[in-house]
Order: sequence, then structure tokens, then C-alpha cells
Amino acid sequence: MSRESQFDVIIIGTGAGGGTLAYHLAPSGKRILILERGGYVPREKDNWNPKAVNVDAKYNTKELWRDADGKALHPHTNYYVGGNTKFYGAALFRLRQNDFGEIRHHGGISPAWPIGYDELEPYYTQAESLYQVHGNRGEDPTEPPAGKAYPWPAVSHEQRIQHLADEFRAAGLHPFHTPLGVMLDEKNPRLSPCIRCNTCDGFPCLVHAKSDAQVLCVDPAQQYPNVTLLTHALVKRLETDSSGREVREVVVQRNGVLETYSGNIVVVSCGAINSAALLLRSANDRHPNGLANSSDVVGRHYMGHTNSVLMAISKCRNPTIFQKTLSVNDFYFSSRDFEYPMGHISFVGKLDAITLRAGAPAIAPGFTLELMAKHSLDFWLTSEDLPDPNNRVTINRDGEVVLTYTPNNLEAHDQLKAHLERAMKQSNCSIHGHECHQGLFARSLYLGQRIPLAGVAHQNGTIRFGRDPKTSALDVNCKAHDLDNLYVVDGSFFPSSGAVNPGLTIMANALRVGDHLLRRLRVPIVEYAANGSKPNVAQAVVG
Ligand SMILES: Cc1cc2nc3c(=O)[nH]c(=O)nc-3n(C[C@H](O)[C@H](O)[C@H](O)COP(=O)(O)OP(=O)(O)OC[C@H]3O[C@@H](n4cnc5c(N)ncnc54)[C@H](O)[C@@H]3O)c2cc1C
Ligand code: SF4
Repeated sequence: MSRESQFDVIIIGTGAGGGTLAYHLAPSGKRILILERGGYVPREKDNWNPKAVNVDAKYNTKELWRDADGKALHPHTNYYVGGNTKFYGAALFRLRQNDFGEIRHHGGISPAWPIGYDELEPYYTQAESLYQVHGNRGEDPTEPPAGKAYPWPAVSHEQRIQHLADEFRAAGLHPFHTPLGVMLDEKNPRLSPCIRCNTCDGFPCLVHAKSDAQVLCVDPAQQYPNVTLLTHALVKRLETDSSGREVREVVVQRNGVLETYSGNIVVVSCGAINSAALLLRSANDRHPNGLANSSDVVGRHYMGHTNSVLMAISKCRNPTIFQKTLSVNDFYFSSRDFEYPMGHISFVGKLDAITLRAGAPAIAPGFTLELMAKHSLDFWLTSEDLPDPNNRVTINRDGEVVLTYTPNNLEAHDQLKAHLERAMKQSNCSIHGHECHQGLFARSLYLGQRIPLAGVAHQNGTIRFGRDPKTSALDVNCKAHDLDNLYVVDGSFFPSSGAVNPGLTIMANALRVGDHLLRRLRVPIVEYAANGSKPNVAQAVVG
């Protein structure tokens, strides 16, 4: 094999996990190859066009998966440099400290992680710095202890959201500012990269002001001469050596031909579903159930949260442009009325009539779709789903991804909705009093109350880490128990998922695994500067 195809580290996938890891390892001087199946999101006006993005699904993959009955599934996922962070809402939460321990839910047990919150805390701080998170510590009673203040002040509420925050607070709740990775400088609007627009959550940022893995990690990583990115490079298989202990070759389809690359260390970070699929597709004589799968857990315990978009229709108009600034965690663990965890309440980006028409929600009495869009507060509710070995990713005879999933712990989600409904009824607007709130409406009538199976935005859990090789595929460093040079750093490693968005935890863990890899490669660990920037190449290159 030529030097051009041999690397110290190969990273497969450039999203929250792979992109962050690439950035962390780039200054090491080691030869790093990044393989990404997609290209760059084209910069064009459609980036901010609700019809193109939400109705025509212009940027979604056209790949077809199957559900358990063999029915076609069009996954709402994106294959680009930066992965799904190009499209995410950039709400960047830490898991709660208790999420790392075992928690009893109404629907069963959420298992403990093999590491405690303390171990991840310094990396959460680094990730918040790298991804320029804007937030206020101390507002959210469930917030875990943090080593540092947020690097940026919280994104302010617009008037309607501020009123709602005041009403919630008057009703005894603790609304707080959602921690957000947008490069908004409210003190200096003329120079602020972010213009606080209405097309953020679910849209790529046309002006590159969203804290995504392409802009903040993959592009800066490429400034190092030791880093190579190949786009449109779909990894088809991983081949092992004859002992089965090492990944020897990474087989890539690029420009219609198969190429092979080898790395002393190979890191898979294709997203929880595609990473499991890649390991399963890489079965060989030594690994008949798929790579790293002597435990038979690869592909199992798929989780994706139970999510709903609920529109609270008020008599008051909601002219908010950037809506995702408020969250409520008062029901995250329990309440007076329900002794089990329920989950997290926050917002999606402001829904408009074009987007609503595609989902056809139940129409509130006396409203049209246009009026609903003008009056709705568009909540995003997340409850924890529990790891069930039968909820899993498999590959069918045609090589397609099959996603089998039976929802669980649904009572928690129903209770969360009921608690939100009660809070909205209690809210006392200065114009309409308690009559302001007209009811909660699911965003989509046809899709039912919850986000359907194709909504795999929060996918995780399919290659869980743990201390016991019989019940986990990865060790605590996210190295495969069964192999000496294979790591996984995307959302696959979660043994349980908490109920906040997963992005920051994936980023923080990638930094943690990155430090482990630097030690393994005998490279001194380079401290981050306070603003998240890296030292220059000359300073950093060692080994
Ligand atoms: C619309 C939307 C909104 C979201 N909002 C939030 C939010 O507000 N906060 C939050 O925390 N999270 C949010 N998420 C979830 C968040 O984006 C994901 O949790 C995160 O991006 C997952 O990171 P990952 O590294 O596991 O995978 P991804 O980011 O999906 O990256 C995987 C990468 O691997 C590539 N790839 C896949 N297979 C292969 C292969 N075989 N060969 C080569 N490359 C491959 C993909 O193209 C992709 O670039 C949102 C997601 C979506 C879709
Ligand atoms: S709100 Fe800011 S970060 Fe989000 S898409 Fe608009 S300009 Fe970009």
C-alpha cells in the first residue's frame, strides 16, 4: 500500500462526533484522513427557503431504509460535511448529573453510564467553548455543576417569549435561556456573524454563523498539512487482519470506484444508525455477527427520544423571529403529580404556514393555517426512551438498513404534555388573562402526536459503551472490546439517552476520546485557548 493511502488515524464521518475529533487531533502532526460520504452543503438561497427545506426536503438524503414490516422509510437525515450539525437547532445541553446513574422511569430502567458526570465535565466545558455556546448558568434548577461560565451571554428572548417566561415564572416554574450555538453578538449587531433569522432550526446557515462541525471543526482542521479530507467517500466495509484484532483496510466507494485506505487507528463516526450498519456489513469469518459484535449488541438498543412538536395557540400573536430561546426543565425528573421523569420542554424554530401546510395539523377552531402560524408558540417536547435490545438496526438481504422500533416509556411523554397544557392554562396574559391559551395542537395530524420513525434526529445507543464486553461493544474509551484499533465517537455509544438534545454530549465525548487517542499516539495534550481556538501549527505539531 502506498504512503498516500496509509494514515495514522482515519476518521469516518464529519458530524458532531467525527468533526469534533478531527479538530482535536489536527494539531498533533499525525497523518489524519477524514472520509465523508457527502459533499459540502451548497451555499445558495434555498438554504433559507422553508419550501425547499421543509416541504421538498431538498437536503435530506434520498436513501431508502425499511421499517420492521419492510415498508420504505425516508429517513430525515443529512449526509454532508458537518453531518447533521449543518441542520441542527444548535441547542447545546449537558446531560443532567443524575442521567449518568441508573434512573427508574415509569416504563422501566434507564441504565447507568460506565463513567460519571465528573469525567465528562471538563470536556463539556471545552465543547461549550469550541461551539461558542450562549447561555446563563444558574437559571435551570436541574443544571449540573460546571467548571466555567458559558463563553457567551444567553441569546435574549423576543417580546412574546419574554412574556411567556414571565408567565411561567409567575406560575412557579423555572424557565431558562436555552444554551445555543449561534454566533450572535447582541452587543455588537453590526459585526455579529449571526443575524438572528427565522430559518435556523432544520436549515443550513447561509452565512456560516451556526456553530456547526463543518465551520468550527472540519474547515479549521484542514488548515493543518497533515489532515486530508475526502468528500463523496462512502465507506462500504472495514476489513480486519487475519487475527481479527485490527482493522486493516477501510474500503471506500468514491467516484464510482472502490479504493482502500489503512490507518493505525480507525474511528467510525457515521451517526448511530449508519455506524451500526457499517459494522454489521463488515462481518467476516472472525466476526460472523458483524465487527466488534461478540456481545451481539451492535445495532441494538436504538434510541431516538420520544419527541413531539406541539403548537400552543394563543389569542396573542407570536411575531417572534428566533423562537428557540426558552426551555423548561421543571418536569425533567418528576413533579408533585407524577413521580417519574417526564422530560424536557423547549422550542423549535418558528413554524410558518408553508411548513404547516406540508404537515397539515388539526386546525384550531376559528383559525386558518396562516392564523395558526401567526399565533402559535411552537414547543418541542423530548422524553427519554429506554434502551430495548429489540429496538434495533439490521441489514436486509439487499443490504438496506432496517430500523425496528417499538416506542416505550410513553406515559412519561403523555404526562409531559399534560404538564405543559396545565402550565399554559395557568399562564395569565395581561390582555386576555387565562383565556389567552386556546389549546395544544400536534404539528402534524397525519403523523400523529409524536415524531414518526423516520425522524431519526436524536439517534443514539446502537454501539453502547460499558465495562463488560458481554453487554457492551465499546470500552470506556469508546474502543471496540473486540479490536485493538477501532473506535466509535458518534451518538452510538450512549447506554441511555437522558431527555436533552444529544449534540453537546457527543462533542464532549469526542474530545474525551480525542485526549485518549493523543495519549495513545504519545502526543502531548494541547490545551484549548479560552475562546476555543487552537494554537498555531508550529506550536502544536509534535511527535
Ligand atoms: C433538524 C435537526 C435538528 C437538530 N437539533 C439539535 C439540537 O438543537 N441540539 C442537539 O444537540 N442536537 C440536535 N440534532 C441532533 C444532532 O444534529 C445530532 O445528535 C448530531 O449531529 C449527531 O452527531 P453524530 O456525529 O452522531 O452524527 P452526524 O452528525 O449525523 O454525522 C455523521 C456523518 O457521517 C457521515 N456518514 C454516514 N455514513 C457514512 C459512511 N458509510 N461513510 C462515510 N461517511 C458516512 C454522514 O454523512 C455524516 O456527515 C438535530 C438534528 C436534526 C436533523
Ligand atoms: S439564526 Fe443565525 S446562525 Fe441561525 S441560520 Fe440565522 S444567521 Fe445562521
